[in-house]
Parts: sequence; structure tokens; C-alpha cells
Amino acid sequence: MIMEGLKEVAMHEVGHTLGLRHNFVASKMYSLEEMAELPEGEPTLASVMDYAPPHIAAPGKKQGHFFTQSIGKYDVWAITYGYKPLSGGTDGEKKELAKIASRSTEHGLAFSTDEDTTSMSPDPDSNRFDFGKDALEFANNQAAVVKQAMDGLADRVVEDGEDYSRVRQAFNSLLNTHGQAMYFASRYIGGVHVNRSHKGQDNAPAPFEVVDVEKQREVMKLLSEQVFSDEPFQFSPELYNKLAPSHWNHWGTSYSVRGDFPIHDTIAQWQSTILSRLFSSITLERMHDAELKVAADQDAFTTAEMFESLTNAIFSELDSLEEGDYSNRNPAISSLRRNLQRDYLKRLSTLAMGNAYAPQDCQTIAYAQLIDLQEKLADALEQEVELDAYTKAHLLESSRRIEKVLDAELTLSRP
Ligand SMILES: [Zn+2]
Repeated sequence: MIMEGLKEVAMHEVGHTLGLRHNFVASKMYSLEEMAELPEGEPTLASVMDYAPPHIAAPGKKQGHFFTQSIGKYDVWAITYGYKPLSGGTDGEKKELAKIASRSTEHGLAFSTDEDTTSMSPDPDSNRFDFGKDALEFANNQAAVVKQAMDGLADRVVEDGEDYSRVRQAFNSLLNTHGQAMYFASRYIGGVHVNRSHKGQDNAPAPFEVVDVEKQREVMKLLSEQVFSDEPFQFSPELYNKLAPSHWNHWGTSYSVRGDFPIHDTIAQWQSTILSRLFSSITLERMHDAELKVAADQDAFTTAEMFESLTNAIFSELDSLEEGDYSNRNPAISSLRRNLQRDYLKRLSTLAMGNAYAPQDCQTIAYAQLIDLQEKLADALEQEVELDAYTKAHLLESSRRIEKVLDAELTLSRP
């Protein structure tokens, strides 16, 4: 794997030397399934000018090369444009170059570089360190790889006689792998595909295309199962108690002041990153705009639908509280979920109070969501079932908080 990676990096840097820029959609040429079936030696990417992670196939899937092992279709095309000796004087050259460039809508020749790949960029296909045509397929692949790797982690990564700091390193690295793949998928929500085709080119889509509505719904489902649920974050106390820090303190190392492992904070950080993306003004404005960019007689993924899905996913326990036997050690709502619910409620409240930069329509939707949630909380608190102290306190506090926000929004922050 390391030799394959070195070869890929060497090809990438030589590409820069020859004048090529990054192409962050090059990893979108094939799906993971298509890549696994490519003949030996066939490049898996359209270009070596992407940043590609090592590809590790999910358990039960065919493992191909970890890194692409040859220059891709885009590289050959771009080098042809820059270096092919052309005849016919300036006019002849111009004509020939235009002919080469006109192929840009062919499969594998798409281009998207650094300035197209920022946190503000609309195209969810342009990413550093994503892999394969479909971010959902990639996210599911990574989730399965991480789940398997977490199993027996502490025994696998430490040899007898070593300290346990590699367990902590590997654990963080696996959580990042999972979180980053989910983040790429979340970019489909409110995403707009961008392409650089010119008028009159063959098979040229419009410069902007809103991401398919069903795709966005599938991503919401994925996020509710893989990010907003506490299911993927169930690790054993045995593992938690082996997440030891390194005691090596030197420039270039990260030193842990706290020493023991901050479990709640680490998990909340990934959930919060995804929530920040969904609540960001650029995402909300883009989704709001998308309602006009999709033909009126076609279905579209609206901000109203997103907030409703989020509330249902994040507060799903409220619908099934009557079925349990609860105690402080076996609470109705887990500590990870209570944290997530508080985070979500704060964001929804900020939006409802008009303190976030977002379309007015989103503010009113957030306000309406709080009213719905308030009713659900009241129902939950009125049930006969005996709740644990944590859940009861959490529901009471959430309910009072919403009450205050709804009052403040009407009486204070409006002229
Ligand atoms: Zn580079």
C-alpha cells in the first residue's frame, strides 16, 4: 500500500511540474463497484491531480489497488493540449487546440480545481480526499470499514511491551474517517452540480444542476443513521479505558492536557460539524434558491422538509417513551443523544429568534418546528411511565427553553 501511495504522489508532483493544476472531481470517474471490476493496471481516477485517500474496500467487497497506479484520461488530454506539437501557423494551432478542448464534456474530462473546492463551493462532487462517483456509496463503504476496524482495535494496534497511545491515535483516525465521509455526503443537501461546458458542446448539461431530490432524501436518512444516532458510537468501556495519551511532548506532537479521553466532546464534535453545515446560511440560502431552480411541477428538497426530518431524527425517542423501564444507568434518552438534542435545540432557537443569517422563510419554519417540538415534549412529560432523572430534567429544561425562545422572539427581537 505504501509503495502504491508513493507512486501516486510522485505522478501527482510530476503533473504539477508539467503545469497541471489540481482536479478534485477526478475521483468521480467511476463508482467503487465499477473500480473493483476494472482490468489490472487501468487507472481508477480520471487524473493523478486529485487528492485521493487510500481505498480500502468494505468487508466482503473486492479490494482493488489502494491508490491509482497510472495517469488518467484527463491527464493525457490536458498534456496533449499543452504539449502536442501543432502545425499550420497560429490559425492552424488555434483551430487544433479548440478541437482538443471541445472534448471537455466527455466522461472523465471534468475539471474542478482549488478555487472550486472551498466551504462555500456549491458542487458536492468537488472534494479533497473523497473517492468514487457517489458520496453515499463512499460513506457506506467507510462506515463499514470503520465498524470492522473498531472491533478488537486495542489488541491489534499495540504489541506486547508498547504503551497504549497507538490505540488513541487509531481510534481518532477511524472516527475522522467516518465523520469526513459523512460530511462529504452531507454536501449533497442543498448541493448544486457545476460544470464548465460551453454553448453548443455535445451532451453539455447547463452550468448548474440542483442535486436530485431523492439523493438528498437518501443522505438525510444516512445522516440520521450514521451521525445523529448513537448507534455507530457504541464502543466498549474496555476500549475507552485504553485510549491512552502519548507522554512524548515535543514540537510536532499533540500533547493531551486532560490525559484521559474526552468521549462526549469527541463524538459531539462530528455531529456538530454536520449540523453546522446544514444550518449554515450558505446551505439554507442555496436550498431556498433551489426551490426556484427546479421546475414548479417537479419535486424539490425544501428547507421545510429538512428541518422536519432533522427534528424527527434527533428527537425520535419522544415517540416511543412509553415502552421502557428506565433508570439513571439505563436512561430513556442516552447521554450522547441528550447532548445532540441540546445542540440542535440551540441552533433551532438561534434561527427562530432571527439571530442567524438565513432566509426569513427558514426563521419562520424554525419557529414552527419549536412549537411542534414543545407539544411533543409536553406529551412526553405527561406520560405515565417513570422517567430517569437525566431524561426528565432534560425534557423539562428543553421545554422551558423553548417557551422562553418563543416568547422572546415575539416580544423582544421584533420591532
Ligand atoms: Zn498538488
